[in-house]
Amino acid sequence: MEPGAAVATARRLAEEVLAPRAASVDAEQRWPAEGMAALLSELGGLVVPEECGGMGHGLLAVAQVGEVTGRACASTSICMGMHLVASAVISARATDHQRRHHLEPIAAGEHLTTLALSEPGTGGEFWLPRTRMEARGDRLLLTGEKSFVTNGGHADSYVLSTVAVGENELPGRFSCVLLDGDDPGATWGPPWTGMGMRGNDSRSLRLEEVSLPRTRLLGEEGAEIWYVFNIVTPYFLMAMAGTYLGVASAALEEARRHLLRRRHAHSGTTLAAQPLVQHRLGSMWARVERTRRLVYRAAAEADAGGPESLPALCSAKAEVAETAESVINDALTLTGGIGYSRDSPLHRHLRDARAAHVMAPLTDTLRVWTGRALLEQPLLGD
Ligand SMILES: Cc1cc2nc3c(=O)[nH]c(=O)nc-3n(C[C@H](O)[C@H](O)[C@H](O)COP(=O)(O)OP(=O)(O)OC[C@H]3O[C@@H](n4cnc5c(N)ncnc54)[C@H](O)[C@@H]3O)c2cc1C
Repeated sequence: MEPGAAVATARRLAEEVLAPRAASVDAEQRWPAEGMAALLSELGGLVVPEECGGMGHGLLAVAQVGEVTGRACASTSICMGMHLVASAVISARATDHQRRHHLEPIAAGEHLTTLALSEPGTGGEFWLPRTRMEARGDRLLLTGEKSFVTNGGHADSYVLSTVAVGENELPGRFSCVLLDGDDPGATWGPPWTGMGMRGNDSRSLRLEEVSLPRTRLLGEEGAEIWYVFNIVTPYFLMAMAGTYLGVASAALEEARRHLLRRRHAHSGTTLAAQPLVQHRLGSMWARVERTRRLVYRAAAEADAGGPESLPALCSAKAEVAETAESVINDALTLTGGIGYSRDSPLHRHLRDARAAHVMAPLTDTLRVWTGRALLEQPLLGD
């Protein structure tokens, strides 16, 4: 499927399946089963290589699909985004066994995967897991705790970060493994109650000596910090940037429609006739559009392996987080007391968009990383 066709499919599903359910997913704090089933069946293999039956797309398609789905329902969009990031991690260095058991079912739309990186102990610094992976014969034993696992309890597999410990390993070395949804020994925490993103089911997960076959190891044991910066971070950034760009553009459209609709009795004109609101709407549009251009340029450049891609990727998600916040605030001003109602979609957009700053990498961290990239310094370090 061509990139444009994938985005057109996402748009159709967003309009027909996601948008009509967005308010109830939020109000009922319900994992979006219908939306996810529809997206998985047609776009589940978006980033899976073509030789495994997938569509073989990259960061640009993730951002573009994310914008379309985020405009309709941010919760569903992030659930799908985490599936796409995890699919990209599995695809990067899959063994034949992992291709057969994970990638081909993902490409066929029959397998939901997701990311279990964050931990209560290290918060937004998801590249520092404390979950231990100990090799015992042909088994791997996992012990630790994960937090905010989006799609928690619903996914068929979880891409989980660990540190390898044991005789042949230096302590503190990063690995990723695949935990399947039906592996014994994993215990889910209660449903998460967020201010926004209420359909995500981002739960905590406790692992006590969970025993997995070695075939679930992604890449080499203890040698894969590479995944964090080469795959997880770029895909994470584009999935989130696309989603919250969609939320910003939904708020812009909400304001535009309100200005055309709202008519005052004393003047007989709509708000659209007021120069001040025209000015504010124009400024909102420009913020959304310039942010969109940065996101898509960053994604295209990174797909092509261009040298400018790192500062662009980092800045793109930080800019989206700030743009979404400011555009929703302006939309609330333009829609007045009517927009300020609890039932207004802007209420949901405001709560959803606020997550953009705190979903790692954090906005502040991304600004620092951009500066470090420009100064030719490694992202992490003193
Ligand atoms: C809706 C939602 C969905 C999520 N989905 C997933 C998922 O699917 N998988 C997953 O692995 N994780 C997920 N996360 C987790 C997310 O990526 C972050 O790890 C988490 O939000 C961090 O929360 P915390 O309270 O532990 O932050 P903390 O690390 O305690 O940080 C709190 C605040 O302190 C400041 N701060 C912290 N560290 C620094 C620093 N080094 N420099 C400057 N300021 C700093 C920042 O202002 C930050 O916001 C999700 C989170 C949310 C809210």
